[in-house]
Amino acid sequence: QPLELQTFCAEILDDMQGMVKIGQHFVYQHLAGALTVSIDGSMLRNILVNLLVNASKYSSEGKSIELTTAVQDNLLVVTVRDEGIGIPDADKDKLFINFFRARNAIHVQGTGLGLYIVKRYVDLLGGTISFTSQLDSGTIFTVQLPIYPFVA
Ligand code: ATP
Ligand code: MG
Repeated sequence: QPLELQTFCAEILDDMQGMVKIGQHFVYQHLAGALTVSIDGSMLRNILVNLLVNASKYSSEGKSIELTTAVQDNLLVVTVRDEGIGIPDADKDKLFINFFRARNAIHVQGTGLGLYIVKRYVDLLGGTISFTSQLDSGTIFTVQLPIYPFVA
């Protein structure tokens, strides 16, 4: 089923704008490639919402949260970048384990299931997920999902 990336992402961000902290704002950019792709929309939405909620939760008021999409050959590349608390180096290898929460996140509400579910969805779609993060500076999650550019 064809999915138009710009409309799809704009609707998700619009729905979420009422749930974020004061002054937090989303920036969305489609960087390159086809705008319409073939992918399971409900799974992609679940992945994006989980990453975007985390970006908001683990950032302070007023910070910006950046979402990008790009299509390269048969790959959709999505990034979610925040300017938040970051992930301690010692916790980085456990982030996708169920119920795991980093030591600097214990004062924030959460169960530690979001990223576990995201990883399962990414696996089901045949993709990959990775992140880079600097403590007290911010985090970037990158999801790569195989897709087929939609040709009408
Ligand atoms: P929930 O199940 O409600 O999503 P959660 O947010 O604690 O709870 P995950 O989304 O699985 O759980 O994330 C696991 C842990 O990874 C978090 O507790 C937090 O320590 C860390 N984390 C995830 N995203 C970020 C982020 N953008 N910035 C900093 N730390 C993060
Ligand atoms: Mg979460």
